[in-house]
Amino acid sequence: MPFRDIFGQEHAIDLLKQAVRRDRMPHAWLFTGKANIGKFKTAVALAQQLNCRECGEDACGECDFCLQIAEQNFLDFQVLIPDGKFIKIDQIRKSLNWLQLHPDQAKKRVMILDGAEHLGREAANAFLKTLEEPAPDTLLILIAESAQQLPETIVSRCQQIRFRPLSDKISERILRQTTELTSERIQLLNAFSMGSVNGKLAARLELMETVQQTAIGWLSTFSAATLEEMLRTCETWGKSKNEEWSLLLDFLETWFRDLTWLHHGLPEEKLINRTVNSGDSRISALKISAEHFNLQQIHEIFSRIAESRRAIELNANKSLAIESLCLHMYRKAA
Ligand SMILES: [Zn+2]
Repeated sequence: MPFRDIFGQEHAIDLLKQAVRRDRMPHAWLFTGKANIGKFKTAVALAQQLNCRECGEDACGECDFCLQIAEQNFLDFQVLIPDGKFIKIDQIRKSLNWLQLHPDQAKKRVMILDGAEHLGREAANAFLKTLEEPAPDTLLILIAESAQQLPETIVSRCQQIRFRPLSDKISERILRQTTELTSERIQLLNAFSMGSVNGKLAARLELMETVQQTAIGWLSTFSAATLEEMLRTCETWGKSKNEEWSLLLDFLETWFRDLTWLHHGLPEEKLINRTVNSGDSRISALKISAEHFNLQQIHEIFSRIAESRRAIELNANKSLAIESLCLHMYRKAA
């Protein structure tokens, strides 16, 4: 996908084009910004631009090199993505050795590391060595959500570009082009993607709505029967292959964010849980819920949500993690 097909990242792409034009390509870029806003696509477009047979300001997207890069089937192009929580050190060493070799066909050998925040210490050290002594005609593109998650020694050796969240208009345009969702559903998806286009979420929209409706029930009816039902559901969701637990955590974050919003008396049209389909008003449920939690409790619950997410990433039992989070929520509700 050449630069011209990437929407909403004109600023980042301008910087890259300037670097190409002035022949000031660093050895390593660091692309940061939230997930699903076009960082990876831009990295691929840069690899294409640098190697395209047409040699224009943007890749042609059609020559054999452009196509092979798009299919990740080009001799001088590699993409590393963490396998599980961490990137395996052997894999990193192999890739970094590969990067040092002179390009086979390309003008520049390019390696993308998507998910650089998952580098373990040993892997980060291996990268650091490559960054300190880069081979000519090679380019490394690190992608991470935030530079703060990376060792300072790595960040300081890369040229950083911050990617901006997408505007609603842009993400709507992308969703219209890439999915067959109705306008109502696009709006719903936009409200919960917050400045990104989440293709995976688009496919899970129905499940997302079910999870959200169930959780809204819990958060607006506090009774012993609800508690029992909640714990049973958490157990099922934690075990399910559909990963409802992750939709639940995402949703709880938006819900408690909205409660903070209400407590501060901020405008209702900015509530995330307001933009749902016409037949489904969540405002009244939000207001009921707001009466049960004060700001300090909301703050505590926010930390608990983040803790649960981290614990699950580190392989904690998912059912137990969301059960204890929900129990904590219930206990806090006055
Ligand atoms: Zn081309």
